[in-house]
Amino acid sequence: MVPSGPVLPARPPVRSFTRLLRWTVMLRPIALLAVGLPLASAALYAQNSPLTPRDTGPITVHAARALDGRGARINDVLVTVRGGKIVSVRANAGPAAARATYELGDATLMPGLIDAHVHPGWYINRAGALHTPRDGDTPAQSALARAGNLYATLMAGFTTVQSVGGPEDLDLRDAVNRWQIPGPRILTSITQLTDTSLSPDSLRGVVRALEARGADLIKLFASSGLGAGGQRTFSDAQLEAICGEAKTQGLRTVVHAISAASVRAATLAGCMEIEHGTFATDAELQLMAAHGTIFDPQVCLVFQNYIDHRDIYARSGFTGAAFTALADAIPKATEMFRHALATPNLRIIFGTDAVALAHGRNEEELICRVHAGQPPIDALTSAESRTADALGLGDRVGSLVAGYDADLVAVRGDPTRDIAAIRNVTFVMRGGEVFK
Ligand SMILES: [Zn+2]
Repeated sequence: MVPSGPVLPARPPVRSFTRLLRWTVMLRPIALLAVGLPLASAALYAQNSPLTPRDTGPITVHAARALDGRGARINDVLVTVRGGKIVSVRANAGPAAARATYELGDATLMPGLIDAHVHPGWYINRAGALHTPRDGDTPAQSALARAGNLYATLMAGFTTVQSVGGPEDLDLRDAVNRWQIPGPRILTSITQLTDTSLSPDSLRGVVRALEARGADLIKLFASSGLGAGGQRTFSDAQLEAICGEAKTQGLRTVVHAISAASVRAATLAGCMEIEHGTFATDAELQLMAAHGTIFDPQVCLVFQNYIDHRDIYARSGFTGAAFTALADAIPKATEMFRHALATPNLRIIFGTDAVALAHGRNEEELICRVHAGQPPIDALTSAESRTADALGLGDRVGSLVAGYDADLVAVRGDPTRDIAAIRNVTFVMRGGEVFK
């Protein structure tokens, strides 16, 4: 079965949420018993992994320029890192930079990029089609493919991602946190809420169960996919139940909404972040701005990636009509994005909806947004401090500031002059560890 995404017709969820709820309730006592185990083994993994940070004293990084992630430029920058944190950021370093641990030359140093919408679980299986739960791939093959997706994402300069989401995310998140595999820091929704047959009370129960399982956020579908017209799914009462209960549990809500009506309903229900919004009009854009709703539109990569890999996705169940809908969506989404940019006080963040074969090409969405009219510095800031703030991590990542996590990336040249420079990542550090 194909996981549901923005371009796919609505299909039954991989696992019904009634069953999910039942399983979670049954498994909870076991989960509680096991709580000590990951903590104890984390130290063991840490000892044995070459990725594990070791305090070898201060590391210094010098580059011709930096962007601070909040919209400011810093010339001749020298950044000092220790113990996984940024210790200092010095402008006009001059001769002090001569003995930098890493001399990056004519490069632009930035906080690690953040992608608010990825699917690291999506990969192409041995048969050359989109992986599904019963395609015969072994668990090891799936795990390795997904670890590969995370590595590709990290190498593209993305040091934090929000996955929305699959059950494998919990293990991926833990593996990255234990320094077992190289990858970006992961926030996950574990699953996506799509079952409109559940009552508001049941949906509240699902939200609480996901919180108990360790979800960082709740992902829900307020509309069908693009292929199915993006029409509304959950009722107002259901949306209010999910987004209200999530708020009570201290979880953010991220909503898939394609049609104008679904964007409006999710905003009025108090949901926090809207994805796609392909057919939003000025009225919905202004409504989101008025409510402080975070908006993550996509203008190209998610659509183009399917078209670029038409043979593989056709083998995976995509019809000719789906490819037509995808191609038609690009100019529509681009026009909507221009209106979003022109909407005062609208909080636009950066997310790509990266699925199989888009992992590690996340920056292409940034390039499309600039081509659509977003100033490069604004596009970069949206993928740094602005998305960090939206994800509740604004005091830790997304800015080149002393005390923040040492997530640093560099690209050759200056992406504020030519955004295509974002493709040439020459340096990646996450949590003080150099991966590239
Ligand atoms: Zn998605």
